Amino acid sequence: MRFDIVSGQFEETDGAPDKPAVIGSDGVLSWSVFKTRCESLAAMISVLGLPAGHPIIVRGHKEAEMVCAMTACMMLGHPYIPLDVVVPMDRVMRIRAITGSSLIIDHTDEGFANDVPFVIQRGMVRRNAAAAMGAGVPDRPSDPIRYIIFTSGSTGEPKGVRITREAAGAFLEWMVNDFGFTSDDVFINQAPFSFDLSVYELFTSLHSGATLLLNDAETAKDSRRFLDRVKEHGGSVWVSTPTFAYLYLTEPSFTGAELPSIHSFLFCGEALPKMTAQRLLHRFPNARVLNTYGPTEATVATSLIDVTRDMLANYTDMPVGRPKRDSIIRTRTDDGNVATKEAPGEIEIIGDHVSIGYLNNNELNAEKFFVDEGQRGFRTGDYGWFQDGILFFNGRRDEQVKLNGFRIELGDIGAQMLLVPGVADAIAVPLKSGDVVKRIVGFVRPAPGADAAGLQALIATHLERSLPAYMIPADLMFVEAFPVNSSHKTDRKALIDLYIKRPRV
Ligand code: AMP
Repeated sequence: MRFDIVSGQFEETDGAPDKPAVIGSDGVLSWSVFKTRCESLAAMISVLGLPAGHPIIVRGHKEAEMVCAMTACMMLGHPYIPLDVVVPMDRVMRIRAITGSSLIIDHTDEGFANDVPFVIQRGMVRRNAAAAMGAGVPDRPSDPIRYIIFTSGSTGEPKGVRITREAAGAFLEWMVNDFGFTSDDVFINQAPFSFDLSVYELFTSLHSGATLLLNDAETAKDSRRFLDRVKEHGGSVWVSTPTFAYLYLTEPSFTGAELPSIHSFLFCGEALPKMTAQRLLHRFPNARVLNTYGPTEATVATSLIDVTRDMLANYTDMPVGRPKRDSIIRTRTDDGNVATKEAPGEIEIIGDHVSIGYLNNNELNAEKFFVDEGQRGFRTGDYGWFQDGILFFNGRRDEQVKLNGFRIELGDIGAQMLLVPGVADAIAVPLKSGDVVKRIVGFVRPAPGADAAGLQALIATHLERSLPAYMIPADLMFVEAFPVNSSHKTDRKALIDLYIKRPRV
């Protein structure tokens, strides 16, 4: 059996109803049970009378039921908004305000404020008759939105990337034709569902009738437990950020001999260091290392390359791939020249897999999205160049960073710190080793008379409530004034120097 992401319907393909569809943290669902659960949840949602295409928040972690909820939304043509438990409640409610969603399907025990009209929890609907229905309605009903994934926004407001059925279909056509996966595969998940990397294994396993192996955060932290689980269930496609795989290289049993079922490592979301690729190919001589590149705004990924030993020997930089079928990647410098390694240009992506834009954010849409000969395009903010028809990545032109693969706008953190009473000025700065962000440091200029110890506690509490844990600065440093550079801008390098040289207790 398979679930067709484009048509939103189950289809019998192999007469194997007992094959596992989803192995969640809460148990295993065979394809036949999975289908029944999705259908009954879809029936429960249908009777709520939500407008066609109304967005639904799906909150939880790695429960198989989380996958049922997202699938039920797709069956009904409702966009789902996946929010992992790493997203704190204040941010969930901000996202709800942006989307106008009237239904939350909840797999946690946190509970929601009474102003949410409908909450479905453990198969029960809780109605709040007094709550007003949200205004969330689709603006493209002919091409239903499959999901809306929220990413960090530089102004402190999360941005909702809308991916339509057409974009999902364009992505899946590429997956099915060019990645070499089959319905026998068991996709090993690591990323939270609120990170679009997880769409790789979620959509590909459902669409091709394979098996999805979910791993919760506790399991992922315990390498022995994680690898035993992969072995027990015959995990075959490892999908993660390069950082996650790198951490596993310290585990002696992370080898092809111990884990013969793994035939592919599929990476996206951040730069793949050469050393990580080399060591993986050495440990898993029969496996492929696939490096892919792309932003959430262009449905998961846009370029792919099978990283071979020859390639590692021939190129000094790590290639991020050839453009996806039916898509165009352009790299032009600001003065319109062809980009080179010495003078990289901004990467622009054009194709049907590009998002129709951020939800309710016309200003940013006008800046970032464009139409080129009738096709949607997106300015990534990434720098790159082509060599031998292969794309290479060369950092960013703005303040977006990646920390362990998580996308973070530093301005989002600064904006949150500024909301704390007693903070006169605040900025988040990355501490890097080479090009890799190791941690984020928050610099704060307190208002006159503010008590430093009290302010520190207030900021910590506010950030915990408003930002996902991976965005919270590892350290806070109070300064009397922000140094400025010769262009009269805040001198971030000088701030980081201050931090490095700080007296340690
Ligand atoms: P996200 O939307 O979270 O997937 O993040 C997208 C951003 O991650 C891109 O715009 C790049 O800056 C970065 N990125 C994604 N894949 C790669 C890769 N293979 N190599 C280097 N950077 C990457």
